[in-house]
Amino acid sequence: MNASTPIILAVDDKVENLDILTSLLEDYDVRDVTDAAGAWQILDHTPVDLILLDIMMPDIDGFELCRQLQDDERTRAIPIIFISAMSDEATISRAFEVGGKDYVTKPFRPLELLARVRTHLELKFLMARLHNLAYFDSLTGIANRRRFFDLATALFAAPGDLQAVMLDIDHFKQVNDRHGHAGGGKVLRLVADTIGDRLPPETVFGRLGGEEFAILFPGVDPDTVLAAMDGIRQAVADLVIPLEEGNLSCTISCGLASRTADTGNIDALLHDADQALYQAKGSGRNRVIFRHIQK
Ligand code: GH3
Ligand code: MG
Ligand code: MG
Repeated sequence: MNASTPIILAVDDKVENLDILTSLLEDYDVRDVTDAAGAWQILDHTPVDLILLDIMMPDIDGFELCRQLQDDERTRAIPIIFISAMSDEATISRAFEVGGKDYVTKPFRPLELLARVRTHLELKFLMARLHNLAYFDSLTGIANRRRFFDLATALFAAPGDLQAVMLDIDHFKQVNDRHGHAGGGKVLRLVADTIGDRLPPETVFGRLGGEEFAILFPGVDPDTVLAAMDGIRQAVADLVIPLEEGNLSCTISCGLASRTADTGNIDALLHDADQALYQAKGSGRNRVIFRHIQK
């Protein structure tokens, strides 16, 4: 067993059943508990990959625990296989209705249960991979355009201060021309890391495309963001990036805009920030400009 061994949580009020499951699933990292409270204790600090769930249990039964797991975004994506002595159609269909992915009756056929466990683990890992491909930029590892806008739209819907920054690497075409696409990729990764490392956790940071990035800062005023972005701008300018053709330095230009009562949606806010970025480019680059709305 190593760090990549899938973790399976088995929940059953009868210890004999848990013993059978544990020995059958010896190739997996099985955590066994006898009730819902025990299940949550494990789930609170363990990245569980699959849950085997009994239905008839005192206190909270399997259906209710399944519903709780579906309601919690931390556990929603974990597949659940119900294992129950009940074999009537109404119970089985209810198990799927509350969010179960499969149903096995007790006493189960060991090889069949093993096959179902393998299938659901495979599906879970494929879903996780698909999620990563769909929402994260493969070059830098940060949120891609789609994820940025999903998170940004949610932030925009919430009340409170909201500042947006658009930023773009200066003269990046020259980096590519001199150092090739691979060199350009390395610069993009390092710049993204340098920025990401300096952002507070509540910010949303994404690569919108090419060498253009955006950041949203909720709950702070423009001066705070100006100071933070100027620190980041300086940190990027201080980078010495070793490339095959020699060391390279690069700079970024940043445009900042605040949400006001007139800002209709997230696109409008980013448009305002983009105008400030345009000013930063036009006035010499390697700077942060705050767009003051004149009305
Ligand atoms: P400015 O200071 O005005 O932003 O100039 P710039 O050269 O950075 O801007 P421009 O938009 O003219 O060129 C952007 C260049 O970024 C074009 C392209 O060669 C490069 N680029 C865009 N996406 C990628 C990428 O994913 N990888 C690499 N290596 N280069 C990229
Ligand atoms: Mg039971
Ligand atoms: Mg550029």
